[in-house]
Amino acid sequence: MQTHEINNRFIEHFRSRGHTVVPSASLILDDPTLLFVNAGMVQFKPYFLGEAPAPYPRATSIQKCVRTGDIDEVGKTTRHNTFFQMAGNFSFGDYFKEGAMEHAWELLTRPQSDGGYGFDPARLWVTVYEKDDEAAALWQKVAGVPAERIQARGGKDNYWDMGVPGPGGPCSEIYYDRGPQYGREGGPIADEDRYIEIWNLVFMQDIRGDLSPKQGHPPIGSLPTKNIDTGMGVERVACLLQGVENVYETDLVRPVIARAEELSGRRYGANHEDDVRFRVIADHARSGVMLVGDGVTPGNEARGYVLRRLLRRIIRSTRLLGVHEPVLGEFSKIVRDAMAPSYPELVTEFDRIESVMRNEEDAFLATLTAGSKIFDMAVAETKKAGGNQLTGDKAFQLHDTYGFPIDLTLEMAAEQGLSVDEQGFRNLMAEQRRRAKEDAKARKTGHGDLSTYRSLLDQHGTTEFIGYTDLQSHSRVL
Ligand code: ATP
Ligand code: MG
Ligand code: MG
Ligand code: MG
Repeated sequence: MQTHEINNRFIEHFRSRGHTVVPSASLILDDPTLLFVNAGMVQFKPYFLGEAPAPYPRATSIQKCVRTGDIDEVGKTTRHNTFFQMAGNFSFGDYFKEGAMEHAWELLTRPQSDGGYGFDPARLWVTVYEKDDEAAALWQKVAGVPAERIQARGGKDNYWDMGVPGPGGPCSEIYYDRGPQYGREGGPIADEDRYIEIWNLVFMQDIRGDLSPKQGHPPIGSLPTKNIDTGMGVERVACLLQGVENVYETDLVRPVIARAEELSGRRYGANHEDDVRFRVIADHARSGVMLVGDGVTPGNEARGYVLRRLLRRIIRSTRLLGVHEPVLGEFSKIVRDAMAPSYPELVTEFDRIESVMRNEEDAFLATLTAGSKIFDMAVAETKKAGGNQLTGDKAFQLHDTYGFPIDLTLEMAAEQGLSVDEQGFRNLMAEQRRRAKEDAKARKTGHGDLSTYRSLLDQHGTTEFIGYTDLQSHSRVL
């Protein structure tokens, strides 16, 4: 089943069950706690927080999401994209746990010939919050899930809150068992690669009064009206229904891999290292196009920096596949053609998208060329002195002045038979971060202090955006 059809069936399922169909919000919303929209519920936050009355009791959407916190997983796990689509249904004081379970289970297990996804119910598992006995009982009652396929988890995994006083509640996730060839027995708590998480149901029922609900503090009350927020990963469902190995091989992502194969003359599936590169290219190309489409431009701060990092990783990965010509314009076209049926604005905006991509690539290739000269000189000096290791100093200079990610330096050095003093590099990075922090403190610029932000990005790759729970930590970063 193609992604387009998966989306259509989702929307139709919930539309016919009284949900108002709401279009995806932009990836960029005016929300100081988030760089990018990372879940379907974000555009509905005012209703969940009680800041505005919900204009409808039930809603459904297919939301564009970007989770840069998952960037290091891309290409390595089977299931993490930086850009993905989250299909969701929402209840604002209307149906609650039982309704949410019924709706989800029915869509997943109804035969494909009858408008559903046709998953074999015997391969579905669920998790519940360890204190949510009600959910465990309802899964058995509503969906007939046997007790041995219901697993309890602690607050870290299965309790949702915003990290600040306000609404919170237990979650329950639905997983699909891909079978013994994919890993260990024992359900999702044993192996999340074999058991793929496809859908998360959040039951908003509590009022949180403290800042550390995850540490076991009980709620201070119950919400007067209870809400439902769910998110189903469209790419994950596509992966399972298309019988492919991972989310990068699904119909809307794979075409970029095919183009990269043509450009490089290498074949996807031939060796693990190249395969990871192919997947990174395809994933990031899509994220890049979607971000530029929504108005992000590459830069050295915040959103622009995340975009820049994604684009540089594409360029670096294609170079490691042996391609040295500009590629971003080319990949952007492939992404546009794959995504345009659902996102027609990619066609009308394409000239702009393409020119942003080309300019960024030209600029990066220029610094790459300049940096490569410095790199070559450093290699020559090191070899002349009989050494076999590039200094941390050099790696730091390449990073700081020429934007070389450390893994690029590592790979290029390895090609020359050299190692890199990574510890030295990391010490210099830490030193720089400390300085930036001190500066920030001294200047007390608060919100606008992007040097701290930049160094945090450098440190963590990108700021962590995990689930719905990162709001607090992220607002601290900004
Ligand atoms: P995981 O544990 O696999 O990282 P999650 O628990 O972080 O997923 P949720 O925050 O519950 O994910 O998001 C709701 C749904 O969105 C998930 O059940 C999954 O199907 C999908 N999803 C989450 N992150 C990604 C991603 N990086 N790429 C593709 N789909 C995702
Ligand atoms: Mg999870
Ligand atoms: Mg989840
Ligand atoms: Mg996650």
